[in-house]
Amino acid sequence: MSVEPDPRHIVRLSAAHGHAHGTIVRAEAIPVSLPLARHVLMGGGQRIERSESLLVRLQGDNGLVGWGEASAAPMMTGETLPGMTEIARRFLLPSLIGKDVLQRALLEQRLNRATPGNSAAKATCNIALYDLLGKYLGVPVHALLGGLARETLPVMHLLANASVEEDVYEALEKHAEGIRLFKLKVGVKPVEQEIAMLRTLRDALGPAARLCADANASMVVRDACALARAAAEADLLFFEQPLPHDDLAGALSVARASMTPMCADESAHDVEHIIAWQRAGAITGVNLKTIKLGGIAGVMRAAIVADQLGLRINLACKAGESSIGTAALVHLGYTVPNLDWGITPSSQYLAEDLVTRPVLPFAGSIAPLAGAGLGVEVDESAVARFSIRMDIDQGAPLQAGD
Ligand SMILES: [Mg+2]
Repeated sequence: MSVEPDPRHIVRLSAAHGHAHGTIVRAEAIPVSLPLARHVLMGGGQRIERSESLLVRLQGDNGLVGWGEASAAPMMTGETLPGMTEIARRFLLPSLIGKDVLQRALLEQRLNRATPGNSAAKATCNIALYDLLGKYLGVPVHALLGGLARETLPVMHLLANASVEEDVYEALEKHAEGIRLFKLKVGVKPVEQEIAMLRTLRDALGPAARLCADANASMVVRDACALARAAAEADLLFFEQPLPHDDLAGALSVARASMTPMCADESAHDVEHIIAWQRAGAITGVNLKTIKLGGIAGVMRAAIVADQLGLRINLACKAGESSIGTAALVHLGYTVPNLDWGITPSSQYLAEDLVTRPVLPFAGSIAPLAGAGLGVEVDESAVARFSIRMDIDQGAPLQAGD
């Protein structure tokens, strides 16, 4: 089946341009909405049932195609899917069209300078560049990043059910499949209930399983301190982002309340903040995502800095990215300087994927992807099926009491 792209989202190289080998001749922004296998409850009670992502499809002069993906996560990067689509089409893709993919570093500078911010929109372009470059050179993305630094990836499984019974059931099921790292979403229920959930999960999984908690910036200092103290008793590997992204003073209070290692996610959206929070003593480690750091190159840079600072690293997809985004994360997982806190892929939470052979955990790890570029074969008929048009609904004026 052929894809019927939205013509407004395609940037073409005009025939008037001469071009060298490696030239990007077509660039396309494709917004998609993917169904999750089941809903995810995030900190703050947000219920997620579908995943919205922007795909970028870059085509080279020899017909090779590179794909990128970045989920829209307004609470994480401040970007919405219509905004990402518009930024990619108007500012980012025009900076790549007609250019040589073999000059990837130069093209990355062009992307970074095309507009300030917009890290997720830049991430999908950056990932597509790596995929296309790997295909041109006939090597996997991990080879472009310097080669494999480890033999397995410790995969973290996300627990985000409505009840602790469901979380325990799911955790035991995944434990039997070889998963040893679990993350519980907190900041959803009253803190006493969540402390009880941590203890129940620890008892159910035993002392060998590694357990952590993520509040997605949804707690207040007092509750976060109480949970951090309980987390120390439950031997939590780390406690992630209890407070809003800019609350460094609060984060220091929580860090000092217990021996539980603290992890920054929403606060770790660029290298400068990672350095500042480490120097302040607020964190032991960081959660790095392509959508926050502008793609593969940005995550690698942040990982090198974090490692130099002695920080531990967790790599994560935004919940609901397909195997395209997950593949980018897997290549990073095999090449970043440390992966002490594991990798959190997201393709296993989707009801349907966008590639012919989804990238999924097996026995608690994901094998290296050996094919050229990202090493996944995108199913263009699935892309066409889940692509959506981005007509912006301006809505009615908001009124108090709505
Ligand atoms: Mg998080």
